[in-house]
Amino acid sequence: MKSSRFETDFLVVGAGMAGLAAATELRHAGHDVLVIDKGRGVGGRLASRRIGGATFDHGAQFLTARNPRFAAAVDDWIAAEIVEEWWRGSPSQPDSHPHWRGSPSMTAVAKHLARDVEVLLGKRALSLHLDREGWVARLEGPETLSARAALLTAPVPQSLDLMTSGGIELPTEKRTHLEGIEYARCIAVMAVLDGLSRIPTPGGFSPTEGPIDWIADNQMKGVSAKPAVTIHASAEFSLANWNRDRQACGQELLDAAGLWLGSRVTEFQVHGWRYSKPVDGQPDPCLILSESPPLVIAGDAFGGARVEGAALSGWAAADALEEMWGGAG
Ligand SMILES: Cc1cc2nc3c(=O)[nH]c(=O)nc-3n(C[C@H](O)[C@H](O)[C@H](O)COP(=O)(O)OP(=O)(O)OC[C@H]3O[C@@H](n4cnc5c(N)ncnc54)[C@H](O)[C@@H]3O)c2cc1C
Repeated sequence: MKSSRFETDFLVVGAGMAGLAAATELRHAGHDVLVIDKGRGVGGRLASRRIGGATFDHGAQFLTARNPRFAAAVDDWIAAEIVEEWWRGSPSQPDSHPHWRGSPSMTAVAKHLARDVEVLLGKRALSLHLDREGWVARLEGPETLSARAALLTAPVPQSLDLMTSGGIELPTEKRTHLEGIEYARCIAVMAVLDGLSRIPTPGGFSPTEGPIDWIADNQMKGVSAKPAVTIHASAEFSLANWNRDRQACGQELLDAAGLWLGSRVTEFQVHGWRYSKPVDGQPDPCLILSESPPLVIAGDAFGGARVEGAALSGWAAADALEEMWGGAG
């Protein structure tokens, strides 16, 4: 139900795992929730792309579940056939920890969550400001959205930009804390091959040296009908080469991966993740920036640098917002 002068009760900026986890929980509690994302699809860093008939997971590669609540969510996703076990243990790190992949690809999890909430795609928030008793997000173009409560789940520097542009003054301690949150970068290469790769089973591993942090065969993983290799450069390589020509950089990474490719590259694309993974963990799973009207910041920077951490942060943010909402009512 829409509330009088507000478009929604809860505005969530970001349709990645944190934003969708929070929005789903708020929606299931019966609230009016609107999620916006600047992207063309949901998922954020849970990202998949098609190139020449091949499919690539080029952001998060797999899910792991250590927390019981997240493990229960994974069980639901297994039942819904949107995740499957990729492997359990590995030759270099034998353990019994299951590594889950999205089915048909990693974005499946985000798409599954987004079914239950209203998501507006292609909507980039430019600023967030306070307007009497609510929050107003100014979007690219002439649009604005008003809400009684807001949750920001973009990478922290981007959420800070939104608040700065809207003239939101944070207490010095909180602003300094948020400004200190850093993310590693990651240059990702997606290469279509004309034959099988030589990447060993189960189809993904981290080389122990060189510029490559991770290399995966999306066909062996079960994501792609055609041979398709994802390469993630190390944080060091990505930082040092960030401003270089992307195709040249991609070619250098393909050359470094030559041993594992085993077949000819017919085409490749390069994607730069400016905010790949937060460098340090934070003590709290989300941060309350204002209680009245409620404003919370969340994401993997708070819950942990993994899909699981983003979900836990989103859920914690939803709980905090619910509590403030109850207190206000
Ligand atoms: C290369 C790479 C490999 C990874 N591998 C793994 C892995 O194997 N396993 C694992 O568990 N984790 C992995 N991760 C980490 C995992 O992907 C993240 O921890 C998690 O997906 C973060 O979710 P999030 O919701 O916090 O942020 P995001 O997914 O970044 O979501 C934030 C959303 O906000 C949107 N947004 C930003 N600014 C605006 C704006 N102004 N207006 C509107 N929308 C905006 C973005 O478009 C985005 O969709 C990997 C990440 C990368 C990049």
